[in-house]
Amino acid sequence: MNRDLRKFLVFILCIFLAYSIAFYSYVFQSLEEDAEEIRVIEETTLPEPDKDDVVEAESLPIDETVVVSGGDTLGNLMNRLGIPVSQAQEAIEELTKVFNPRNLKAGQEIYLIYEKQPDSPAYDLQYLQLRPDFEHNIELSRKDDGSFEAIKKKKHLAHHHNHIKGEVNVSLYADALRSGASPKMVYDMIRALSFDVDFQRDIHTGDAFTMVYDTFRDEETGLERAGELSYAELTTQGKTHKVYRFQPSGGVPGYYTEAGEAVRKALLRTPVDGARISGTFGMRKKHPVLGYTKMHKGIDFAAPTGTPIMAAGDGVVEKAGRFSTYGNYILLRHNGSTKTAYAHLSKYAIKKGDKVRQGQVIGYVGATGRATGPHLHFELLQNGVHVNPRKVTQMPGTKLTGNSIKAFKNAKDKVNKLMETIPPGDSISDSKA
Ligand SMILES: [Zn+2]
Repeated sequence: MNRDLRKFLVFILCIFLAYSIAFYSYVFQSLEEDAEEIRVIEETTLPEPDKDDVVEAESLPIDETVVVSGGDTLGNLMNRLGIPVSQAQEAIEELTKVFNPRNLKAGQEIYLIYEKQPDSPAYDLQYLQLRPDFEHNIELSRKDDGSFEAIKKKKHLAHHHNHIKGEVNVSLYADALRSGASPKMVYDMIRALSFDVDFQRDIHTGDAFTMVYDTFRDEETGLERAGELSYAELTTQGKTHKVYRFQPSGGVPGYYTEAGEAVRKALLRTPVDGARISGTFGMRKKHPVLGYTKMHKGIDFAAPTGTPIMAAGDGVVEKAGRFSTYGNYILLRHNGSTKTAYAHLSKYAIKKGDKVRQGQVIGYVGATGRATGPHLHFELLQNGVHVNPRKVTQMPGTKLTGNSIKAFKNAKDKVNKLMETIPPGDSISDSKA
């Protein structure tokens, strides 16, 4: 057998293996979750994930590429993603054996796989990869015993940009896979568009989709790893939805509309796990401590002291400190018009000025200030007015401004140019990668 043919066969085998593993993981995941799903999977080999699956996809490991901005350290980058400080320190300590974290440059890409801790809003780092220079690859993996191992490899991965277009015949999931997208890309597309499209009802035969995403290919083995979904477009019932991936400087990556508006994210309705509501929003006949009628401007969640409190949405810490009868208090600014407040805390997990991500632990339940017992007093403010958090399910979109909108327009132009250059179903290699 000649060398090239052998190489080609190995390549085909690898692709086949990769898809088998991806498909197997998908099936295995579904089997674990719901016995009802088993039948469905046997009948149609490529089921379309329904809404529940999309939610469950949230608990799958997240893998993404983040870009380092000026002033970022590996530590604050990991913390921003929800990885606990002590774990990030462990990881950096191990990484330091093969890489000097001070050599981290703005604009550098870091690929991470992290997974939600069971019963906790924090994430565990599973894998980290970065390229300190063109020829080397630094990999940090978590071993079975929970410790980290860092290695330095000499490697060249070719960065490919892929463009696919397709039409829904069987299901969006099946047809996107058939067009060449990996399951990760399809999930990312569903997640990014799920605020505007009801994937259970709105998808019909003949609906058109377009995706632009990148992959990293080891030219020797032909093995490929997924990069990021840079663009997704879906036309359904005569309406076209377009989203672009973008990471604002110093922020976390997300999807934005053509106009630079963040794809809306649902606000966490319960910022503490396993808590019961002990006080509702509205007028109170008799205040338990003061003894007179008073407006209750938030919701109370009863929970033991020390229970972690999560950020209801992505945002910036505007206040973190003692605040009169509120005791230890945190105020988060989510965008121009929405803020959330958390009162009576026993401890803080963040400080003023920090950027936080939805679900990140920001503090712990306590009974500081005027409180009858340990609980979280949670408030939602829109345009400076207290509103009932129970009645608001969506955060208003965040619009990029200033330098961010300029950077976004550049990123958008790049993607649009890629779509013009690459014929659908094809890819080009980026030698600068
Ligand atoms: Zn209260």
